[in-house]
Amino acid sequence: MYTFDKSFTQQEGIPQAGIDAALALLNSGRLHRYNVEPGQSSEASQFEAELAMWMGQDYCLACASGGYALQIALGAAGLQAGDTVLTNAFTLAPVPGAIHHAGGRVRLVEVDANYCVDLDHLEQQMRTHSPRFFVISHMRGHLADMEAVSALCAERDVILIEDCAHTLGARWNGRLSGTFGRAACFSTQTYKHLNSGEGGVITSDDEALMARAVVMSGSYMNVTLHGAAPPAETIADQVVTTPNCSGRMDNLRAAILRPQLLALTHNIERWNRRYRAIEAMLAEVPGVVLPERPLKEAFVGSSIQFRLPARAAADFSDVVARCRQRGVVLSWFGADRPVGFTSRYDSWQYLDQIEPMPQTRSLLATTLDMRIPLTFSLDDMAQIGAILGEEVTR
Ligand SMILES: *Cc1c(COP(=O)(O)O)cnc(C)c1O
Repeated sequence: MYTFDKSFTQQEGIPQAGIDAALALLNSGRLHRYNVEPGQSSEASQFEAELAMWMGQDYCLACASGGYALQIALGAAGLQAGDTVLTNAFTLAPVPGAIHHAGGRVRLVEVDANYCVDLDHLEQQMRTHSPRFFVISHMRGHLADMEAVSALCAERDVILIEDCAHTLGARWNGRLSGTFGRAACFSTQTYKHLNSGEGGVITSDDEALMARAVVMSGSYMNVTLHGAAPPAETIADQVVTTPNCSGRMDNLRAAILRPQLLALTHNIERWNRRYRAIEAMLAEVPGVVLPERPLKEAFVGSSIQFRLPARAAADFSDVVARCRQRGVVLSWFGADRPVGFTSRYDSWQYLDQIEPMPQTRSLLATTLDMRIPLTFSLDDMAQIGAILGEEVTR
């Protein structure tokens, strides 16, 4: 029995242009985004301008983390304490956490067999709870029918905020993920599509929302030093009424992100070749069910999910342990206690109410999840596929 010996947590290094820019910045000592000479544009501002252009959105704000981006996007979009906010029952802990810290009351929505929000349940929860917001989390890069989601939100006056932590560069029906809602939030934490260790971004076409977000992020009176912010007058109107919640991005992180943005389109193709390779192998394994990827969805295959519906929940710890022994690291979202980065919705016990989500729960009980780092070659994917084929049927 052979084992796979590369690390599932090993991402690619920062492009040389990013290392050079970072070293120049370290030599200059000008790490704070507003510490620029007159007439200069900081790395943070330039990153904002470049990402706004990449997304085709008017405004972009770089900040401290993806969770922080969600929290202030909700506040900037007008969330008042006690407002109901819907979100997917299958997402990562920073999403309900951000809603909670913004003062919202979280109500969950079931996901379907393809890990997308269940549109019937979404409509039902809208009817039952009259939410002001829906934070759709494109968890693990799965895009729901975004035309249908947008229509439901429009019909019921629900403000849509997109959590695009796993969909930077993905598209629904040709249109970029993150351009359907009032605002979109991204993460540049190490395991996402751009890596600055930590970091977050908000993009939007909404002038007032972004003016408030800039002030919230801790701009003080430096609003003219932004790369893709609303006009200074619009922001000035918000300064005295918007609380500062410091969480800026520094120039060092922006400097290493900018060259990565240039490589994003190429990297999306590289991720997808790896995804399609492992998907094709898993499709041949008896008992494995893969999510359908709709034709309208252009995804970024930075991770893969698959189900073993015939196996008992009690088997999954063993499957995960056997694969790990052979060097293949899987996560299981069905565990009763949070493990690693994963947690099931019922472990967010600070929420004031957690409705049972039987459909999501049974889906997660039989789902396995695997990262696809770009440091793996197509040969590596074939090795991993062979090990999975043996271990998940054992
Ligand atoms: C990583 C992640 C976030 C938040 O990102 P951080 O930068 O770690 O705060 C939000 N949603 C999902 C689905 C994520 O995976």
